[in-house]
Amino acid sequence: MRLAAPTGGACLLGAARRRHNAGVIPESFIQELLARVDIVDVVERFVPLKKGGANYQACCPFHSEKTPSFTVSPSKQFYHCFGCGAHGSALGFLMQYSGLPFVDAVEELAHSIGMQVPKVTERNLAERAKKAPLTELMARAAKFYRERLKTSPKAVDYLKGRGLTGEIAARFGLGYAPDDWQGLQNVFPDYNDAALVECGLVIVNDQGRRYDRFRDRVMFPILDQRGNVIGFGGRVLGEGEPKYLNSPETPLFEKGRELYGLTQARQSIRDADTVIVVEGYMDVVALAQYGVGNAVATLGTATTPNHVHKLLRQASKVVFCFDGDAAGRKAAWRALEASLEQLADDKAVGFLFLPVEHDPDSFVRQEGGDAFRRLVAQPTTLTEFLLRSLKADMDLSTAEGRAHQVTKAVAEAAALTQAEVEGQCGLKPLSRGRPAPPPRSRAIAISKARTLLRAVLGRPERAARLPLDLIGRETAEEQALYAIAEAMDHGELSAPAGSVGLIEFFRGSPHEAVLSRESAALLDEVDESVEEAVFNDTLEKLRLEAIASEVDALSAKARAGGLAAEERERYRQLLASKAAAGAQRSD
Ligand SMILES: [Zn+2]
Repeated sequence: MRLAAPTGGACLLGAARRRHNAGVIPESFIQELLARVDIVDVVERFVPLKKGGANYQACCPFHSEKTPSFTVSPSKQFYHCFGCGAHGSALGFLMQYSGLPFVDAVEELAHSIGMQVPKVTERNLAERAKKAPLTELMARAAKFYRERLKTSPKAVDYLKGRGLTGEIAARFGLGYAPDDWQGLQNVFPDYNDAALVECGLVIVNDQGRRYDRFRDRVMFPILDQRGNVIGFGGRVLGEGEPKYLNSPETPLFEKGRELYGLTQARQSIRDADTVIVVEGYMDVVALAQYGVGNAVATLGTATTPNHVHKLLRQASKVVFCFDGDAAGRKAAWRALEASLEQLADDKAVGFLFLPVEHDPDSFVRQEGGDAFRRLVAQPTTLTEFLLRSLKADMDLSTAEGRAHQVTKAVAEAAALTQAEVEGQCGLKPLSRGRPAPPPRSRAIAISKARTLLRAVLGRPERAARLPLDLIGRETAEEQALYAIAEAMDHGELSAPAGSVGLIEFFRGSPHEAVLSRESAALLDEVDESVEEAVFNDTLEKLRLEAIASEVDALSAKARAGGLAAEERERYRQLLASKAAAGAQRSD
């Protein structure tokens, strides 16, 4: 049985997106083309349009109708049919109307306005295939970073300060990317080689300028099962954002499938018959330093069913270890969802929540490897965690709240027996066949994500302001929102040409449908200042929700057994910021 929507929208991205383009035409060219072309001209070549208000109307060429419901918006540069839902950019129209494949439609459109497609020809592609494969480039980059670590006292000091020895640094192949825009030119004299961009080492900006993706960071090479370097994680040395920077999805590297440290951990995993999943590279390396060698990390994505499947092939027990804060509990919940389908009788999944002030790295440095191992040996079971989360999630004081909870639990967790769930919640069995009422929290989450998504479609540059850690990845809207923010954050999509640019970027991906659907809302003329205010307000609500959920967790803990001094302090801070926000909102 599936839980809600599949998690980890980002992992779908690499596989499903841009199958039609496959990197043949640069993304920036497509965005520029969409910005320059006028959709009214394009559609009018095939369908006579009538002006009606700000937009143009016609009878839809894609379904049979007598009254026009096909609308073309010159300001938004898309078409939308209120009858059949057809929606898209000038490029999409050409493909849908003429049946042209993507690359041909791009050429046709570019030709019509006198632009030249900077396409990589087939001959170039063949030549590139003869060149060093991407993994070889990655290996050379890894070697360069390793060598630079030796000559960078500040990077060495940083690792020493974290208690790491040279032996562990060597075992994980740690390196240092110098503070230099084109440091990799030292190893790759042909810095313009397209393969460097393809494997994510070099970024090309809109002006065509090239520069190293990783600068002034400690480098953690990510290996595949054969030991090839397929990607990198880079961590800032001190304070700075983003704390962790990952390679983008490339032909070598698909985040939803890979785990950091698995190659190095394999033997220890076998010995312990347990694998520990943590959140950061540094956690994996620090644990190994203190003798806990069986830890791996997900790569900046939520845990996927694929991850769990992979891990349960290596050991009979998986223990997820997340921070005790709200984000950690959310990550744990996703891991739980990803685990449910993969569970078999002889396998076990557990959860370990460290004290709020700790991550595995700091915990093991302070308390030692044995203390950590003792915690791992007695994790919260999947059942306990599921029930505890549901209790925290729902209002338990009313019968309705309990009914929601039980039906949700039963519907979602086929892995548990119903009696077990009911026993925990103190309820008699519910009559079967009654549909589960939708939980209230879910409905609110959808509308917020949708509000944000529409605002981002209206002005894609807003995506840069989205707090990635607060956006869920459960609903289609949340997944689309996350994917947009991530693509822009990774520089894969730097200057989208409005909503149509976003839709073209995600053509062929699972996000295309929801983006097309939500773009239709842009046909209603909205006051830009109102939209901006709504966007800001929604972001603020998200932030307050995160605070509220942490407050709830701490107060529950206070009731259950009291808070540690740090937790009390955190609690006071949270209440203060909650009060401050409340005061501001009532001004
Ligand atoms: Zn239609």
